[in-house]
Amino acid sequence: MWDVGGIRAVTVWSSRLLKRGLVAVMPGFIGPDMGFLLKPWAAFKKFTDKEIEVIAQKLSKKREKKKEKKDPLIRCSSCKNVITSVESVISVAGQHRHTFKNPAGIYYEIGCFSSAKGCFNMGEPTLEYTWFPGYTWCYSVCSKCFIHLGWFYQSNGSHFYGLILNRLTSAVSR
Ligand SMILES: [Zn+2]
Repeated sequence: MWDVGGIRAVTVWSSRLLKRGLVAVMPGFIGPDMGFLLKPWAAFKKFTDKEIEVIAQKLSKKREKKKEKKDPLIRCSSCKNVITSVESVISVAGQHRHTFKNPAGIYYEIGCFSSAKGCFNMGEPTLEYTWFPGYTWCYSVCSKCFIHLGWFYQSNGSHFYGLILNRLTSAVSR
């Protein structure tokens, strides 16, 4: 770690320390992903340890937000086929997550989704043992690898998917 104020600040949040540090101090040219340090003076300003810490925190928060925005897709954890997205997260009977036990005694934690284009529904819809009164269910499997992902629920005029959360890549909390 170089102990030269600005350069040190730039390098704190970089994995390729030396490379980015060098780019940052070249007058008139700053690297493409420098965030709010995209100001020529930033490279020459002396930062205190406290300031460096604050900058690093801000940048990592920014990065996390970007990541969330970038990947709203929820995939099959077995084959990575896109199943649904965070925009399809809904609440049914007051909540998104539900835990149910099937007649064989197996517990499932499912999340409710308004649509799931990566699912393929199969079997005859039935009301038998349904977890949502008034809704028939049939099986939903991944349209690519055919692993069982959950159930498709239907009632007069409305439908939704109840998908087994630990078989999807993204844990959705609500
Ligand atoms: Zn799959």
